Amino acid sequence: MERIPFNKPYLSGKELYYISKTIHDGRAAGNQTFTKKSQAFFESKYGFSKTLLTTSCTDALELGSLLLDIREGDEIILPSYTFVSTANPFILRGAKLVFVDSNQLNPNIDCDAIEPLITNRTKAIVVVHYGGVACDMARLKELTERYGLFLVEDAAQAIDSFYHGRALGSFGDVAAFSFHETKNIICGEGGMLVINNEKFQQRSEILWEKGTNRSAFFRGEINKYEWVDVGSSFLPSDILSAFLYAQLENLEDIQQARLLKWERYNDGLATLEEQYDVKRPHLPDYATKNGHLFYLVCRSLDERTKLIDYLKDKQIQAVFHYLSLHDSPYFRSQHDGRDLVFCKEYTDRLVRLPLYYELTSGQQDYVIDSILHFYRSNI
Ligand SMILES: *Cc1c(COP(=O)(O)O)cnc(C)c1O
Repeated sequence: MERIPFNKPYLSGKELYYISKTIHDGRAAGNQTFTKKSQAFFESKYGFSKTLLTTSCTDALELGSLLLDIREGDEIILPSYTFVSTANPFILRGAKLVFVDSNQLNPNIDCDAIEPLITNRTKAIVVVHYGGVACDMARLKELTERYGLFLVEDAAQAIDSFYHGRALGSFGDVAAFSFHETKNIICGEGGMLVINNEKFQQRSEILWEKGTNRSAFFRGEINKYEWVDVGSSFLPSDILSAFLYAQLENLEDIQQARLLKWERYNDGLATLEEQYDVKRPHLPDYATKNGHLFYLVCRSLDERTKLIDYLKDKQIQAVFHYLSLHDSPYFRSQHDGRDLVFCKEYTDRLVRLPLYYELTSGQQDYVIDSILHFYRSNI
């Protein structure tokens, strides 16, 4: 059996054609044809009122953090079981981070644990839809509205996923998506900020374009463009947007394929849960899946290590995921000492299986059989 990698980037085949168009047309800088086409696509498909492509999800969150005017002394409540990019944009602005545990049933933020952490310095709650599975948005909205806080969605993994039928990314004051090579829809490195709070929409495109009103100028709304605010260069070259647009044209096909593979793992590995208490992803009734990732939660760190090694011998690359941020070398000494029990569980015991467009049913059955064999033979 040929080696089965954890991930293989999808290509629609039109990427190079669109990229070469931007170059030949002399329109490869930012905010040109494919950037506009991609933003219009997201706005019409998911009902986002304003979107801006960025060079990464990290970058989008930095733009978001600037827009919300996060500054020294502000406190930000966020999950610990996530990627560093959920945290960095806020710590860069001088904010204090207050990390929250995950749920027992899935790695998303435990909404029950948030309220006692809110102080009069709290400015925002940042949530991550782990694996594209929605957090409890009604509860989060209720909390942020009651305490007058901003809500930020790190929707890096959450493209084409929904909460009670409404697209993830449409709930927060701002929300950020990733088009990194490891995500469902890619352009190498790329991202997008969704600006749902109307109060921030006009300013967002100024910060995006180096603090100038260049976007309004190109729409013909003003007759010269000037330095009007702070800002940076958050916008991607149209070369990246061209890559992205070639993927967006096939979004439904990509999603359908990934969902089928997700289901195949879920069905094929059901007996693990019944017989060995090894957990599969839990979806609350308000959430959809988007086929971003499929994971198992083993019974111990030792078991996970053995399983990953066993699969490696079988030429299958399975990988663990986040090392909780509250217990990282950078943050450990700043953490307030609260024990985040479920974060530790996912850090030690969660393992992700290969899932990508080209993965065949035969390869998937081989992965499933190998895992079942590992448990049955008590390795
Ligand atoms: C991938 C990812 C990011 C970072 O995305 P980039 O586009 O690489 O900056 C941030 N948060 C989460 C939860 C992610 O999965």
